[in-house]
Amino acid sequence: MKKIIAREKLPELWAHLSEQGPLFLPIQDGPVVLFQPWFEGAEINLDAVNSAVSPKDLFLPREETFMHYRCSGKQLEMTPVEPGEPVTAFGVHPCDLKAIELLDRVFLGQEPPDALYQQRRENTTVIALSCSAADPFCFCGDFGVDPADAPGADIMAHLSDDSMLFESRTEKGAALLEQAGDLLADAPEETFSREAVQTADFNLQLEGLAENLKDRFDDPAWDQLYKSCLGCGVCTYVCPTCYCFDVEDFGHEAEGERFRCWDSCMYGHFTEMAGGHNPRPERKERVRQRFLHKLQYYPEIHDEIACVGCGRCLRSCPVNLDIVQAIKALGGEKIEKR
Ligand code: SF4
Ligand code: SF4
Repeated sequence: MKKIIAREKLPELWAHLSEQGPLFLPIQDGPVVLFQPWFEGAEINLDAVNSAVSPKDLFLPREETFMHYRCSGKQLEMTPVEPGEPVTAFGVHPCDLKAIELLDRVFLGQEPPDALYQQRRENTTVIALSCSAADPFCFCGDFGVDPADAPGADIMAHLSDDSMLFESRTEKGAALLEQAGDLLADAPEETFSREAVQTADFNLQLEGLAENLKDRFDDPAWDQLYKSCLGCGVCTYVCPTCYCFDVEDFGHEAEGERFRCWDSCMYGHFTEMAGGHNPRPERKERVRQRFLHKLQYYPEIHDEIACVGCGRCLRSCPVNLDIVQAIKALGGEKIEKR
């Protein structure tokens, strides 16, 4: 099903969608764009290259309580948190959709699946938006992402100067378009096409990289690569494919809640054990872990590199230590044929 709406009518559509449940979209928030719930007067920025933080927190929130507990004598009462109402995510770029697919393999590809993640995925209708611009840090093309298409979306949307086109890809997507009623018109068959945006070419050699890295755990390149890292963890927080979390209890013996929150392998305490031993005591081990997880360990299990080339770690790292630097330092650079 293909539908179209004039660009100036989009606020009406957003108001309508937000009446059905929380509507998250890229909202200009001071100098940055963040996925936030729609509100009257919000400055929606559909032309932004990328949100500062990826929309992964729609499925894996920064922190969430997943159980309340109460103890009385020998009685223990545990109350799981019920899933929230259906959500619409509007304007997710293809790289971030690809990242969600990589997270699906972790959270849904196990038995049993992660219940909270699964509920959020099922409860969310994702409207993907093709990219109208790329900056010098976008290199999604290296990972097979097409900035003009997101195969995993419920609806694929394209924005032009005067209109927005929607194409449903799933039943959930078609239901949302149907439900918008007269706000959307049937799109003509010859709908507009967008000029492909040009993404960066860092000349990366990714084929065989995971296999080659097996022999490079003790490579001297790591001794140089890690040195500038501040251990701030920004790279892991903005990255759409980082998914490590911590689980803690908050409360006391009689009553409290169990929650989880994002954690970062770049922090010293991340692997500290109860007895005080830490298998990754220095930044070198932590930097190596972050990059090997994406470039070797994840591909060994899922046959794909856990990076989508969104460029966020390139934009955000205060010392320019990013995944492109790591790939190049470890020999993943193409040798040009003469
Ligand atoms: S690589 Fe950069 S962003 Fe990541 S922890 Fe180190 S300094 Fe921070
Ligand atoms: S490693 Fe960097 S470029 Fe790759 S997905 Fe994460 S933030 Fe984006």
